[in-house]
Amino acid sequence: QAKAEGRNTLRFYSPDMESISRNNISLETDLRKAMIQEQFELHYQPQINLEMGSIAGAEALLRWVRPEFGLTSPNVFIDIAEETGLINEIGAWVLKKACTQAAAWQNLGYGPLRISVNLSPVQFLRQDIVQLVDDTLEATGMNPEYLELELTEGSLLKDVERTRQILQKLKKLGVRIAIDDFGVGFSSLSYLKNFAVDTLKIDRSFISNLLAGSRDEAIVRTIISLAKSLELKVVAEGVESNPQLACLLDHSCDEAQGYLFSRPVPSDAFEALLKENPRYLVPKQNIPPKKV
Ligand code: C2E
Ligand code: MG
Ligand code: MG
Ligand code: MG
Repeated sequence: QAKAEGRNTLRFYSPDMESISRNNISLETDLRKAMIQEQFELHYQPQINLEMGSIAGAEALLRWVRPEFGLTSPNVFIDIAEETGLINEIGAWVLKKACTQAAAWQNLGYGPLRISVNLSPVQFLRQDIVQLVDDTLEATGMNPEYLELELTEGSLLKDVERTRQILQKLKKLGVRIAIDDFGVGFSSLSYLKNFAVDTLKIDRSFISNLLAGSRDEAIVRTIISLAKSLELKVVAEGVESNPQLACLLDHSCDEAQGYLFSRPVPSDAFEALLKENPRYLVPKQNIPPKKV
């Protein structure tokens, strides 16, 4: 932290800093316990195919049921998990859990259902991620076609040549690669040319103020058309309102994900959703004709 602020920055001791570092230490201790005591859960958020209005996939999102704190988002603990290396163990658990669940849903006849799993840059570059994915697919019987790994631009650009090789190997296993939070990184479009990716996920920050005629609309339209030109699937994240959805439909976005459709929910609730197989509301002209 001090280094990041530069050598010439004076820093003063403050009780605040002490309490932050004390909190981090107890967070680390608690995280270690969490792994052993199985306090992690995965929640699933549907990704909606906007042509059909049906569930095309689910993003698996990590939750920590932390004693005395309750359901805790990864935003609170991912940094510490990465700094301490605990993310490797946690990430391996996430992958196995998500694949086991997906294979179970497939066997229950809910397939084809794509499952997206977030990978940390630490996991991606330090661990033997290709071996881990291969072993996990093998152990769980998950069909690789239906596994999508989400990476952020930041993790793709850390070591470009190594990344290119890893992505190539992952593709050989048959899994899909998505770029998460697309558009907010210090992106260079050249990696889209060199990397084997399948999906762009438009960052939520472009969707939250999405209105016809806005600059956000211009950006979103451009990302969608970029994706189509490169024959990539494009998913909008964080869709919360009907006007946002209407705008995405206007520009023929492939899929959308957000509170408008569903929050991330525990596996049993997601299974109920699959059973119910809802047709999500889309404007009339986009509803496919009913079968008779
Ligand atoms: P992300 O991968 O970009 O996931 C989307 C985040 O947006 C999730 O937050 C989700 O709950 C939230 N979200 C979805 N729809 C809406 C919406 O309509 N409005 C708003 N305001 N938010 C929405 P969550 O679950 O708290 O996760 C935060 C981040 O933590 C994720 O961002 C991802 O980067 C990371 N993460 C989550 N699970 C894992 C994991 O298993 N491993 C790793 N390495 N990172 C994870
Ligand atoms: Mg994600
Ligand atoms: Mg995202
Ligand atoms: Mg994110």
